[in-house]
Amino acid sequence: MKGLLQLLTLILFVSSCASGFKSIDELVDKSDHKLQTIQKAKPFSFFPVQGEISSHFGYRSDPNTKQRKLHKGLDIRVAIGASVISPSGGQVMFVGRKTGFGLVIEVLHDNQITTRYAHLDKILVKQPQRVEQGQLLGLSGQTGNATGPHVHYEMLIKGEQIDPFAYTNEQVIRYANAKKM
Ligand SMILES: [Zn+2]
Repeated sequence: MKGLLQLLTLILFVSSCASGFKSIDELVDKSDHKLQTIQKAKPFSFFPVQGEISSHFGYRSDPNTKQRKLHKGLDIRVAIGASVISPSGGQVMFVGRKTGFGLVIEVLHDNQITTRYAHLDKILVKQPQRVEQGQLLGLSGQTGNATGPHVHYEMLIKGEQIDPFAYTNEQVIRYANAKKM
């Protein structure tokens, strides 16, 4: 059983290699909105959706304005309606619309880490509810300034965006702890 959990976690984490395996959508239990199989995974050890990373964190030519701008998140390309799941437990701090972001969910986790999920089609949680790791937060979409369906995923420590791709697993926690001092 433990081996199976590790295998599933690995499949989800290495999402780009996951073709042929079950998708997150197939693994989510729709009755209680939870992805039971990865509840024991390390915090932030997987991305909220399974898909190709279409734009990394960093400077890029803004797709809307064509100006050089810091892209403060990770874009994960997925079809509209894909399950967006929480990579760690936390409390829902914001749900609703934000300029440019469209429909957004923000979750506050331990160590003052916040995650943000933008351009959603549907929000399935309420503020200020508690969410568990692996819980279904909402469905992906193309709301706000989005040139195609994707999830814009941000990770913030004390309000400052960091690269979710670079700071996964214990690295995030270590970074957050270092910032506390
Ligand atoms: Zn983005």
